[in-house]
Amino acid sequence: MTTIEHAFLGVDIVLATGLVRRFGWQLAALAGICAVVPDWDALTIIYSLEVFGEAHRVWGHNFLVCILVGLLIGCADYCFDIITRVSRGVLDMFKISGLDDNFSGRVGHSGLCFVVWLCIAVVASLSHLAADVVSSGAEGLPDWELKLLVPFSDRGFIYPLHSWGDVGVTLIFVSGMFAMLKWKSKTMLIARLTILAVITYIIL
Ligand SMILES: [Zn+2]
Repeated sequence: MTTIEHAFLGVDIVLATGLVRRFGWQLAALAGICAVVPDWDALTIIYSLEVFGEAHRVWGHNFLVCILVGLLIGCADYCFDIITRVSRGVLDMFKISGLDDNFSGRVGHSGLCFVVWLCIAVVASLSHLAADVVSSGAEGLPDWELKLLVPFSDRGFIYPLHSWGDVGVTLIFVSGMFAMLKWKSKTMLIARLTILAVITYIIL
């Protein structure tokens, strides 16, 4: 999956649970971010193609690093409410007014909220691995294994069910998003149906 599809998947997972109603929109935003973050190892392309070839789908795409990075981001956002602050900063930067109520601080402040933040961050990070394991190859590109057990094992994992960048998955996620905008009260159901449709599409 591409970056935008990973983000959709993370957000939809949270929307499908209904946790946003209790803990606020920041939880969905956190999931969207954490679902994308494992691709940080692709930034090595800035350094060199050689390092990119060694690092991408290895350094950030393993259980250990994914869980640690998820915990780090979840903890940092819970402690400093970073997502709300950045969102408010963007509103100020573009001088957008009238949305202040939607961007008030995080709702939950409790031990339970902290645990939910960490769990969602980790689950969203791991969703990236699950999606990448079944999405691989494209025209002219070979399958690209994930080294899920690094640093304990170098074994590669890949079960390519659909090609990377398949537009069908994008269309399902985008359709789901527009359906949620139109039928806001049915967001949870639509998110569940969207995930189900994506899984079915990939399997078929
Ligand atoms: Zn990836």
